[in-house]
Amino acid sequence: MTRTSPGPTTAEPSAAASSAAVLAALREELGAAVSTDPADLDAARTDKSGWRSAGAPLALVNATTVSEVQTTLRIAARTGTPVIPRGAGTGLAAGGVGSTGEIVLSTLGMNRILEVSEADELAVVEPGLINDALNEALAPRGLWYSPDPASKAISSIGGNIATNAGGLLCAKYGVTRESVLGLTVALADGTLLKTGHRTVKGVTGYDLTALMIGSEGTLGVIVEATLRLRPLPTAPPVTIGAFFPDVRRAAAASAAITAARLRPAAMELMDAVSVRMVDSYLGADIGGVGRAFLLIRFDDGAAADDARIAADIVRAQGGTPEVSTDVATGERLLDYRRAYHPALAAVGRVLIEDVAVPRSALAAMFDEIARIEREHGVRIPTVAHAGDGNLHPNFLLDPGIEEVPESIWRAADELFRSAIALGGTLTGEHGVGLLKSRWLEEELGPQSVGLQRAIKAVFDPAGILNPGRVFDAGLALP
Ligand SMILES: Cc1cc2nc3c(=O)[nH]c(=O)nc-3n(C[C@H](O)[C@H](O)[C@H](O)COP(=O)(O)OP(=O)(O)OC[C@H]3O[C@@H](n4cnc5c(N)ncnc54)[C@H](O)[C@@H]3O)c2cc1C
Repeated sequence: MTRTSPGPTTAEPSAAASSAAVLAALREELGAAVSTDPADLDAARTDKSGWRSAGAPLALVNATTVSEVQTTLRIAARTGTPVIPRGAGTGLAAGGVGSTGEIVLSTLGMNRILEVSEADELAVVEPGLINDALNEALAPRGLWYSPDPASKAISSIGGNIATNAGGLLCAKYGVTRESVLGLTVALADGTLLKTGHRTVKGVTGYDLTALMIGSEGTLGVIVEATLRLRPLPTAPPVTIGAFFPDVRRAAAASAAITAARLRPAAMELMDAVSVRMVDSYLGADIGGVGRAFLLIRFDDGAAADDARIAADIVRAQGGTPEVSTDVATGERLLDYRRAYHPALAAVGRVLIEDVAVPRSALAAMFDEIARIEREHGVRIPTVAHAGDGNLHPNFLLDPGIEEVPESIWRAADELFRSAIALGGTLTGEHGVGLLKSRWLEEELGPQSVGLQRAIKAVFDPAGILNPGRVFDAGLALP
């Protein structure tokens, strides 16, 4: 693949002011919100992708108010200093990772729920609020915020919006974009922009809310969000756990369930290696050897009938379904899938990938992954949000390894090409960040990238917001 040339909007760190002068200005105007504690700066050099920047950032600003965000941006704009917005640091694309000469601006301390309107089914929140914390507060009111990344217990609403996070329930309830009505954003010069509305509908002007969602901190810093809520599902869920002789048949079953016009709330697939990893993590032998797992959950009034049809489809594809109508057994099946992330963490260092393909191409994508494993001599245990065609192929790295080696990036390069060739995309939900910027043009083409760079330049003419992320080839090609 060709390398995307560095963007014209990249800031020159410290071109206009010395680091000492920037630090002095931050301390004078923001006081205790500014940390230069080596432990804080070190933590800000990485996120859950495991990628680590070349050096410690200049400072970490722990903003607790909108005005502190604005002040940070004004100082950065005045001094030409790059600013890296950051939420909980659970990102998997190194988007919120700071390096030498950069200010990391954390909104994690802005974590209040400002309003819940039961009548209008909306909530107004600050960006640092943890996703799960919002739902804990909403549950007693019978309301629910549906975007549910698997990291919902540890990731922030602001980070979820900035990455347009997905999760287990997207095929039925949509990704984050479908649940955000409006935003308040601090722009690169510190001024505030309000986007969107509190109404269910609203089509006045360009949809700047949608533009901000998934912009990965390159267009502004989200300081407030108006979120669409839903009634909590009240019907008892029906959950199916099914094992298959191979992943291809499990993928074919999931595609057939979608094609049968069924809409599971969650449909999650684990290949045989992932099943073995979870079994060994749990100290159990639930999946056995060589079997893939498909979890299907229905959560509305038609759940029992839909589950019957889905179970027939599973059997037709050679699977053995366990249908559970009682909540505890359903949760046990879901817990089996939830154990995947800790099981993965227990095997050591991995590169977590995130391609998506049309749902009908899921089985073909698993074939491609098997081919890449064979040809590159790598192991890529894969789970998929099968309901929306989003796969997480995870490259196992040698223990103790610091950097992702070139050989793995070459295999990943083929993975991205395969997904794009099947009509898919190189990131379904984790974002581009630093790690995938060099593949952006390959998928989008020069017209789209050119226009997107121009939009970036309108919002951030000096290029101080997340420079090197998304549009610039921040890392060298393998
Ligand atoms: C175990 C695990 C499971 C995961 N599962 C999923 C999943 O199912 N679905 C999914 O989509 N992701 C998943 N992720 C990835 C990650 O949790 C999401 O990308 C999440 O949305 C990041 O939120 P954060 O608060 O940690 O943001 P960070 O990692 O801090 O930042 C992510 C990006 O958002 C930007 N940003 C953060 N806050 C703001 C703000 N206030 N204004 C502007 N930009 C901002 C940053 O600059 C960066 O580009 C998972 C991660 C882990 C570790």
